[in-house]
Amino acid sequence: MISPDEYVRKREAVAQFLRTSNQTGSLALEKTTSNLFRQRVPEPRHKLDLRHFNQVIRIDPDERVAEVEGMTTYEDLVRDTLPFQLMPAVVPQLKSITIGGALAGVGIESSSFRYGFVHETILEIDILLPDGTVVIATKDNEHKDLFFGFANSYGTLGYALKVKVQLVPVKKFVKLRHERFSDLDTYCRALGRVCQDRQVDFVDGTMFDEQELYLTTGESVDQAEWLSDYTYRHIYYRSIQQKSVDYLTIHDYLWRWDTDWFWCSKHFFVQYSVVRWIWGRKRLCSRVYWKLRSRFNRSPLAQRVAKALTGRQEAVIQDVEIPLEQAVEFARFFNREIGISPVWICPVMVYDPSVSYPLYPMTPGKLYVNFGFWDAVSTDHEDGYFDKKVEAKVRELHGKKSLYSNAYYSREEFWQLYNEPAYRALKARYDSSAKLKDLYEKCVLKQ
Ligand SMILES: Cc1cc2nc3c(=O)[nH]c(=O)nc-3n(C[C@H](O)[C@H](O)[C@H](O)COP(=O)(O)OP(=O)(O)OC[C@H]3O[C@@H](n4cnc5c(N)ncnc54)[C@H](O)[C@@H]3O)c2cc1C
Repeated sequence: MISPDEYVRKREAVAQFLRTSNQTGSLALEKTTSNLFRQRVPEPRHKLDLRHFNQVIRIDPDERVAEVEGMTTYEDLVRDTLPFQLMPAVVPQLKSITIGGALAGVGIESSSFRYGFVHETILEIDILLPDGTVVIATKDNEHKDLFFGFANSYGTLGYALKVKVQLVPVKKFVKLRHERFSDLDTYCRALGRVCQDRQVDFVDGTMFDEQELYLTTGESVDQAEWLSDYTYRHIYYRSIQQKSVDYLTIHDYLWRWDTDWFWCSKHFFVQYSVVRWIWGRKRLCSRVYWKLRSRFNRSPLAQRVAKALTGRQEAVIQDVEIPLEQAVEFARFFNREIGISPVWICPVMVYDPSVSYPLYPMTPGKLYVNFGFWDAVSTDHEDGYFDKKVEAKVRELHGKKSLYSNAYYSREEFWQLYNEPAYRALKARYDSSAKLKDLYEKCVLKQ
C-alpha cells in the first residue's frame, strides 16, 4: 500500500512530465502485462510509463470502498480486501487484469448479474488527460461526461491514475452447484430464472455442446463440508462435468479460471498430468500463458511450425453480450458456424437503470448473456471470415461486442454501434489535439 500523499506526488510528477514533454508521435501506454488480443501496427509512439501506479492506497471497510492506482491488478486488490471479508463488486477472472484496463475495456464476472460490468462498480476516477491535466470524474461533477464515457474508451480519452472501487461483503467459502442441462431452451430459461430470483451470489455457465450445458451458481457460506483445489493437479472446468456440488475458498473461487486460462492452457499441453507436474503449480497461471503467447507472436519460425502442424487457422477470440431472448439463436448459430467448445456463459444486467455509459450502452432491465470463446478454427477463407460472421450475428440480435480482440467493422458500422456523437464530443473536450488515437483507429485499424 502507499499513502495518499505519495500517490499525489507521483500524479504531479507524471502530469508535469506530460505537460513539458516535447515528444512527437501518438501517445500510448507502456505496459508489462496485457489481456488484449489484437496486436497494434508497429509505429513510432510516445510511450508513457505508468507501471508504477500499481498500488492500493486505502481500503475503507465501513464505507466499503477501495482507492487504488489505475495499474493495480485485481490480484493485488483482492489480496488486500479479502482480510476484511470484502471483494470488489465485480472481479474479472484473470489475475493480471488491472482496474484501469477493466474500466477502460469492459469487465465482467459471475457477480455481473447483480452488479453489472466492472465500470458500473466504479465511484470516482482520477484521469490523466493527454495534455498533462488531471481531472477527477464522478457521476455528478463537471466531468461526469468523462466518468460515464470512460467505459469502452480503451485508453483513447486519457488514463485512469486512481480509481475508487465499490466493495461488497463476502464469506470465507463459496458453495458451488453445477446443474446439467441437455437443451438450450430449458437452459436459458433456468439462467433467466436464477438471475431473477437472486437467491445466489454468483452465476455463470459452460457450454460444452448443445446437449451438455452447465449452469453454475455460487453461494457465499461460512462453512465448507470439504474444499477442492484447482490450482495444481485438478482442473476446474473438468470438475464442472464431474461434480454437482463443490466448495472453494472465496480466494480460489475468484481465481478459478486463471489457473488454466479457462481451458486455453490446453494449447501448452499442461492439462496432461505429467506435463502439469513438471510445469509446476506456480507457472499454471494466465500471466505465464500470456508471456508464451507473446513470444509465439514474435517468432515467425514458431508460427511457421504451428501452421505446418495445424494448417491455416483463424483465432476467434471474443466476448459478446446477447439479450437473453436471443441467446438460444446465438448459441445455435455459434455451434453451427464457428464450432468452438467449450464456451463460457455469464449473465449481466445493468446495475443502475438511471444512468447510461454512452460508449457501451445496455438496455436497463434486460438480462444479457455473455458468450466468451477463445480458440482458433481451421480456415481456407480470407482473414477474419469467422469473426465477421460473429459480428454480423451479434448486430442482427441487438447484442454488443467487446473490443479487446480483433474487430472488422467498417468505419460507418462501427460508429453506429459505438455512439460516434458521444465519442466525438468527449474527444473534442478531453483530447482536442488528438494525441491519442481514436477508438476506431485503435480497436479496428490497430494503430
Ligand atoms: C482470453 C480472454 C479472456 C477474457 N476474459 C475476461 C473475463 O472473463 N472477464 C473480464 O472482465 N474480461 C475478460 N477479458 C477482457 C479484459 O478484461 C480486457 O481486455 C481488459 O481491458 C484487460 O485489461 P488489462 O488490465 O489487462 O489491460 P490491457 O490489456 O493492457 O489494456 C486494455 C486496454 O485498456 C487500456 N488501458 C489499460 N490501462 C488503462 C488505464 N489505467 N487507463 C485507461 N486505459 C487503460 C489500454 O490502453 C488498452 O487499450 C478477457 C480477455 C481475454 C483476451
